[in-house]
Amino acid sequence: MHIGVIPVGRIDTKILKCVCDALHEVFGISAEIKDAQPIPDGAYIEERGQYLAFAFVSVASVGECDKNIVITDVDVYSPELNFVFGQAELGGNGCMISIHRLQSNESNLLEERAKKEAVHEIGHTLGLSHCQDKKCVMSYSPSINDVDYKGRTLCPRCERICSC
Ligand SMILES: [Zn+2]
Ligand SMILES: [Zn+2]
Repeated sequence: MHIGVIPVGRIDTKILKCVCDALHEVFGISAEIKDAQPIPDGAYIEERGQYLAFAFVSVASVGECDKNIVITDVDVYSPELNFVFGQAELGGNGCMISIHRLQSNESNLLEERAKKEAVHEIGHTLGLSHCQDKKCVMSYSPSINDVDYKGRTLCPRCERICSC
């Protein structure tokens, strides 16, 4: 199995590399950086000044690898939520994260957050749903504090049910 990491917008190569390393470390699946793609047509919703997360999942879904993750820098949302850090198709082949709300002045914190969110969304594509263990990377993290609290690895239970 292979994971493709697809930048959409301006993403530092350092972040892309960190994400590849974390995915390999947690799932044992090799990940590689793919060519940058443009922001999908129709993704920008003017009334909100934000982009639809689902449109980026669609870009990932047509990626050439078994699992594909788009990483973008624009602010994304899902209907009924003010924003999301990422989105995935459960058991599908595509997912996405946005680093827009993961930014920090603290060095390496952005990278650390991006790793956790990427592992979380790829975990969904591998069939994992949300976990009650707040330290598990698969726990639901609606706020940045939740992201910072959780680890970037799977708890023993998620480790057992992961199809990787
Ligand atoms: Zn989730
Ligand atoms: Zn878990």
